Amino acid sequence: METTLLRVIYLANEKGRKVVGPSYISSTLRIPKSTAHKMLLKLAESGFGVYIPKKGFILNEIGVKEGLKALKKHRLIECLLEELGISYEHICVEATKIESFVSQELLRVIEERYRGRRFCPCGKEIPEVEL
Ligand SMILES: [Zn+2]
Repeated sequence: METTLLRVIYLANEKGRKVVGPSYISSTLRIPKSTAHKMLLKLAESGFGVYIPKKGFILNEIGVKEGLKALKKHRLIECLLEELGISYEHICVEATKIESFVSQELLRVIEERYRGRRFCPCGKEIPEVEL
């Protein structure tokens, strides 16, 4: 879940939301607010940022970097799912379901396969960060 969480927070930052609270995570990932709260606390404990009580989570430098990597991972997985024939409207949801469980080894293979590809199936840019 950490991968998904970092990606969602990174995207929220990109959209201008620098502090991400449990409500936002709860509605974006469709999970209970209490679960979202616990996940954000754990993310802070893991060293990806700080959690300010009653406000929300702010990514630190490591968190931003990992968020960008998570985004690349998600979009590469989407490329694979497209090739496997998953329909467009399900690609993002399916990628979200598996992104936290993909091993480094599998990720390396997927990255190699789509090397040089600039956009995911939904037309979003695949970050150039090293995984
Ligand atoms: Zn996409």
